[in-house]
Amino acid sequence: MILFNEKFNNTKYLKSLFNSLNFMYFDNSLPEIPVIIVNNENLNGCFKFDFDFEHKLLKNPRIELSIIHNFSYTTLEKTLIHEMAHYKVYLGLTPEKIKEAFAAYDNNDSDTVEKLLEIGKYGHINTWKSIISEINHKYNIKIDIGKY
Ligand SMILES: [Zn+2]
Repeated sequence: MILFNEKFNNTKYLKSLFNSLNFMYFDNSLPEIPVIIVNNENLNGCFKFDFDFEHKLLKNPRIELSIIHNFSYTTLEKTLIHEMAHYKVYLGLTPEKIKEAFAAYDNNDSDTVEKLLEIGKYGHINTWKSIISEINHKYNIKIDIGKY
C-alpha cells in the first residue's frame, strides 16, 4: 500500500506520526520539530539544522522527507525514525563540542566540524549507529545501519 505520495501531503499526519514514533522509540525525549515535505530524488529523508554564526549556536532543527519516492508506510516510518535518531544526536551535542565545531569552521577544517557534530561522513557511525542498533535490537524493526 502506498501511503505517502504527491496526493498525500498531510502536515498534521506527519506531526502525529512524529509524536507517535517519539513515544514508541524515543521515550518522548525529542522536543517537536517541523517535518517538511520536499522533492529530492536523491534522498528519502534528511535531518537539517542551521549554523548561527553570530551567536555560535546551532538552530532550527528540522526533518525533510522527500515525497518523490512514493513511500510505503513501513518505509515512511523507518525513514522518520532514521532522521529522528540524527535529531537525538543533535540534542546530545555538548556546548563544548559546538564551540569547538565553530572554531574548526573558522579554521576551514570541515572534517573536524563534521566529526564533532556527527554529520556528513561521520553521520552514521558512533552515536547515531548505537541509537539505531538499540532500536533495531529492542523492537526487531531492521532499520538499515550499513549502507550510507
Ligand atoms: Zn542519515
